[in-house]
This record gives sequence, C-alpha cells and structure tokens, in this order.
Amino acid sequence: MSRGLQAPRGTFDVQPGDARRRLRLMGIVAEVLGRAGYEPFETPVFEDTDLFARGVGESTDIVQKEMFTFEDKAGRSLTLRPEGTAGVCRAYVEHGMHKLAQPVKLWYWGPFFRHEAPQAGRFRQFTQFGAEAIGSDDPSLDAELILLLREIIDRAGAGPARLRVASLGTPATRAAYLEELTAYLREHERELSDEVRARIDQNPLRAFDADHEGTQRVVAEAPKLLDRLSAEDRQHLDAVLGLLEAAGATYAVDPTLVRGLDYYTRTVFEFESERLGAQAALGGGGRYDRLVEELGGPPTPGVGWAAGVERMLLAAPNDEPAPDARVYIALAKPGQIGDAFALARRLRDDGIRVEVEQAGRSMKGQLKQADRIGARVTVIFGDGIEVKDMDSGQQSGAEGFEETVDKVGEVLDR
Ligand code: AMP
Repeated sequence: MSRGLQAPRGTFDVQPGDARRRLRLMGIVAEVLGRAGYEPFETPVFEDTDLFARGVGESTDIVQKEMFTFEDKAGRSLTLRPEGTAGVCRAYVEHGMHKLAQPVKLWYWGPFFRHEAPQAGRFRQFTQFGAEAIGSDDPSLDAELILLLREIIDRAGAGPARLRVASLGTPATRAAYLEELTAYLREHERELSDEVRARIDQNPLRAFDADHEGTQRVVAEAPKLLDRLSAEDRQHLDAVLGLLEAAGATYAVDPTLVRGLDYYTRTVFEFESERLGAQAALGGGGRYDRLVEELGGPPTPGVGWAAGVERMLLAAPNDEPAPDARVYIALAKPGQIGDAFALARRLRDDGIRVEVEQAGRSMKGQLKQADRIGARVTVIFGDGIEVKDMDSGQQSGAEGFEETVDKVGEVLDR
C-alpha cells in the first residue's frame, strides 16, 4: 500500500468538535456586528496579484515573502488572498459603493493564505473574520469597531485580552518621521540585526518589531511617531481614546505598535490574548484613509480590523456543549425505511436530532449503535412501533405516528 496522503504543510482539517465551535463563533460575530449595522460581505478567495502589491504594500513581509501566487491559463498573475481589506476596498470601488449612504459597513468571514513557517497558532491557510467601515473619518467609527471586537472576544470567551492602540498619523507626517527614523537607525547601524539593517530604507518601522536585543536597545531610544503627530491627528487619536475610556475599555497607548501592512493611517490597534504565549495576537486593524484612492476610487477614508478564528478558539475554553439528545430509529423488519424517514422528518421538524438505522445491523447491533451515538430514545419499527427510554430501559408500544411523537417527547422531557 502506498503512503497515505496528508493535508499540505500549514493546513489542517476541522474535525466536528472544532467545526461546531467555529459555527458558534460565526454566530456571535454575525450577531454582534449585525446588530451594529454591519452587513455580511464576501469577496473572492483569489484576486489579481497587483491588488495586494498595491494595497498591502510592496515592501511588507506579506507581499515579499508570504503570498501564494500563481498564473492562470491565460498567464495572468493571481494570488490567494493574504488579508481581507484590499479585496473589500476593491469591491467598494468596482461597485461604486461611494454612491451609497456612507459609511458602508461590512463584515466577512473566510479562509486566508500566507506562506509562513507553521507553528502553534500560525498556519498557511487560516480563517479570519473582519469588519470594515468605509466612507467616514469620524473617530467614533474607530472606537466603535474596537469596542465591537472587544465584545466578540469577550462573548467568545477568548478574553482577557490586552488592547494596544497608536496612531500612524497622515502620510506626510509619517514620511517626515520615517526620514528622521531612518537617519537615526543609520547612526546606530552597527548595533542592529542584519535583517533590520538590510531594510532600513525599505521599512524602518519594522525595527520596532524585532526580537534582536541590540535592535531593541536602539529602538528604545528612537524618536517615536506619536510625538511627531500633527495637531489634527493627535486630536483624532484623543477622540478615539476618549470614547474607549467612556465605554470603560482599558487600553495601552503603544508608540511601538507596528502592523505588517502598509495601508494604515492614523489609528492602529491590536488585541492580544493574556492566555496565549507565542502568537498571542487575536486580531487588529486600523484606519486606511488612502487605500480606496490608491485602488482607483475617489478619496475615501476607511477603518477596519481582522481577527483570527483559530487564535480565538485557542484562547477560548473548549466547552462546546455536546449535541442535543438524539433519537435513533431501529428497524426490526425489512421494508420499513420509508416509514422511518417519515417519522424522522416529523421529529426533525420539532428540532429533534434523529438518526435512522442504515447499516443492516441485527436488532442487538442496532441497540448498541443507539447507545454509541448517545441516543436518549430508540424507536423500534417492528410489527408495531415501540418507544424505548434508553436510560431506564422502559419500553412501550405506540399506535401511529402522532402517539409515537408524543411518547418520544415525554422521554426527552424526563
Ligand atoms: P493581521 O491582519 O496580519 O494582524 O491578522 C489578523 C489576525 O489574523 C491576527 O491577529 C491573527 O489572529 C490572525 N492571523 C494572521 N496570520 C495568521 C496565520 N498565519 N495563522 C493563523 N492566524 C493568523
């Protein structure tokens, strides 16, 4: 026999227990965001490579190292989406959504792909849910989105989570600051890690992200963007922070907060689980006031976040309740499967989980199977219909479907 096939590196199968937890989380996400006026939205799993190069940023790790890029049969370069915001903004432009009432508030859930070194909590195919509010630069949207993610984390049981917030300012402030930072890093070049040094000009901000000790010493003394913000950007940030405080949300302003995507302006934030060690980031996001224009649309501010489903479930307790008590329909004689289907349908309409014998087992084998799947009641189709309470072993006859349904209900209520 040949060696069995396996799921590709960095991917995984979702077993039923986990699949149920994911569905429950999706329900929480849909409810929390839906009640706040966010509409569900879907974009394709692959897009033109150019969208991510332009949207996420040429110099980011994601675009430089982590994209699954391929050519289609016509030689077009396509990429499995590494994140969700670029696709949503592409759709906003493509469908002329600037003509709708603003802001347009959307949420999504689906698979994303990054060619990273797999480890606990980090995969090559993972699942994100995200929310975007496009078409207004009002700081209350930044605060609302942060509070909504906090609520989802709490309701999913993935808390406690630390919240870090910062502002990246506007492109002009940032450009001046980046020049200042680049000059500072050049001065201390010899103390930096090779990787940071090689990319000082491309992406000096990544120095704040480095594990390297020498680099960390250098950035501790480096100029901080927060101290260089324009008065308007500072006001915007203060308004966001004020709303978080008013809502009783604790946060830390962290001037070293770096996000791995280039499109952010002003607010950036990240939630980190206090329960997870490495790979503790549950979700994060920020404002992207230039992205829509960058992708060919009218100048349009936007803000959003994305959170990792696998991370959320790693941080939350695994306490998904077992499925409801079940009914098993056993068949003592051949030719009764049609009746069994009809009864099953009738019980399922009442919201009861019902399974029918479908493997040609002996009666003894069928009762064993009923036990195995945790059935609370077994209905036996023979010369008549018998309803068996699997806990007490009590069994009684029933005349016709309606009486059977009543008796099944009585046992389930016991
Ligand atoms: P990002 O936009 O890169 O901050 O991603 C948002 C969230 O998605 C992160 O906070 C993680 O929870 C999750 N995430 C990102 N990359 C991965 C990955 N490779 N595997 C699993 N989850 C991820």
